[in-house]
Amino acid sequence: MNTEISLLRREGLAVAEDLKGRLPDEVDKKRGPYAVIECFEEIPCNPCVVSCRFDAILPFKDINDLPFVDFSACTGCAVCARVCPGLAIFIVDESMDGDMGTIMLPYEYLPLPEKGRQVLARGRDGRVLFPATVVRVMKGGRGKTALVSLEVPKEYLQEVRSFSVEEEEDASQCSCASANLSEESIVVCRCEGVDLEEIRDLIARGYKTLDEIKHRSRAGMGPCQGRSCRQVILNELARDAGVSLEEFEAGSFRPPTTPISMDILAKGSEEDAENS
Ligand code: SF4
Ligand code: SF4
Repeated sequence: MNTEISLLRREGLAVAEDLKGRLPDEVDKKRGPYAVIECFEEIPCNPCVVSCRFDAILPFKDINDLPFVDFSACTGCAVCARVCPGLAIFIVDESMDGDMGTIMLPYEYLPLPEKGRQVLARGRDGRVLFPATVVRVMKGGRGKTALVSLEVPKEYLQEVRSFSVEEEEDASQCSCASANLSEESIVVCRCEGVDLEEIRDLIARGYKTLDEIKHRSRAGMGPCQGRSCRQVILNELARDAGVSLEEFEAGSFRPPTTPISMDILAKGSEEDAENS
């Protein structure tokens, strides 16, 4: 049995394997901007699907389905990216001639960077890739997330997934690869609003298991049931214990581990009754 934990499961980082079926072919890349949806958690969520008036996101059979884009229909209008609560949708445009393209990223901080501002483009793991220029800003509001477009070399369009606005004097330096974020600015559990500082504080105070952290902070007890934060907390606990993540005793899972419909539960009961 393959017990290897994927990088996506362990640290929430998507790799090429995870992006299969989520990127357009060469023909569709040339047609114009398109949406890349990096949503990998089967949670009850569908604003992207219902907001797309071009039916460019394949219809869900179940509210827990994962979204996949029909690139022949996607116009890159970015409506889905504005309403995605997971900040999981990026609008890429590599249809122009030359070496540069654009990527539009959701951005939840204020103030918004202005057009022309130099920022630090970062990869999925948060590491600085290079300075980039803001070429467009779509303000947020009324339930819509602000979007910021960066000009990026085409070869990095599938690498850049966030950015940070640094002090002017730092923007030209790429040596700050070890992100200079404060712990309280790193949200671990989005559902319950728990940041990294609180998690580390609890560990330092003697809460050494996932359940203890959950019960004290409520991290992992929101609608997504820890799908986003669980691995981050386990990483912190393992690091504190001085063991690898694989060696760390993760504790037990209580079923159901993914949301399931009452229909499936009911059918299960019927089968149980027949077999008894
Ligand atoms: S970018 Fe626009 S057309 Fe494309 S999937 Fe999103 S909402 Fe639909
Ligand atoms: S998190 Fe975003 S991409 Fe995923 S299902 Fe919800 S709206 Fe769609």
